[in-house]
Parts: sequence; C-alpha cells; structure tokens
Amino acid sequence: MMKIALVAHDKMKKTMVGFCIAYEDILKKYKIYATGTTGKIVMDETGLEIERLASGPLGGDQQIGSLIVNQEVDLVIFLRDPLTSQAHETDIQALIRLCDVYYVPIATNLASAEIFIKALDRGEFSFREVRKTTSQRV
Ligand code: PGA
Repeated sequence: MMKIALVAHDKMKKTMVGFCIAYEDILKKYKIYATGTTGKIVMDETGLEIERLASGPLGGDQQIGSLIVNQEVDLVIFLRDPLTSQAHETDIQALIRLCDVYYVPIATNLASAEIFIKALDRGEFSFREVRKTTSQRV
C-alpha cells in the first residue's frame, strides 16, 4: 500500500484541512503519516486515520525523513509557508533533500498537491513499487 506523509506549516493548516476534506475519498485508501499538529487537526476535521509523528519543530520532519530512508513514504504533501521564517528550517531542507535522494515526489504547495493526488488516484505512482523492490536508491 502506498504511504503518504502530510505536513503543513501553521498558516497553511486550514488549506491542508480543506485539501484533506476535498480528497478524503482518495486519501482514505492509503496509510497516512503526519507531523503532530497537522495530523491532529486533519483527524479532528475528517474521518481519516493518521499516524501522528512529533510536531515539526520538535523533530517530526526528521521522523518523516527517516521513514523516507526506510522506503516507508511514497508521497509527501508539505504545504510550506513561503512567507514566514521557520525555526526548524534546517529540518525542512533535510526532508526535501531526502525526497530528492530517494526519488520521493514532494508537493510543497496546493497546486502541486492536487496534481499529485489525482495522479496517485490514476495509479501513476506504480513506479514507486518497482523502485522499492529493485534497490534503495536507483
Ligand atoms: P506540525 O509541524 O504539524 O506539528 O505543526 C509542521 C511544521 O511546522 O513543520
């Protein structure tokens, strides 16, 4: 089963909730991880079951990075706030870097998130299964 990680910075959490409500029928077919506060808010506002990690500033982004290294995440939806500096910016950069290392698609805004979730629903992420069974990185 494909696994999705959700992260939303504070000013993007309402947008994330709206996204999860709009695509709940798709999202509910997958295992979902989220950073702490994002996961709580999405679970409160939808019927989705989410495995919550630590809050982002307390290491949640790094936990998602670790899941990526272990091939436990196939898609990251990370609604970043591009207008506010974040105390854990280094963790954010590390997470994005690991997505590039392991070829994990990452959407960092709503427009790309919508394209990815529709592609996932059409079965266009099957390359992830091939990648996982061939090797860790290539
Ligand atoms: P949060 O973390 O979901 O716990 O708020 C997200 C972040 O700010 O990285």
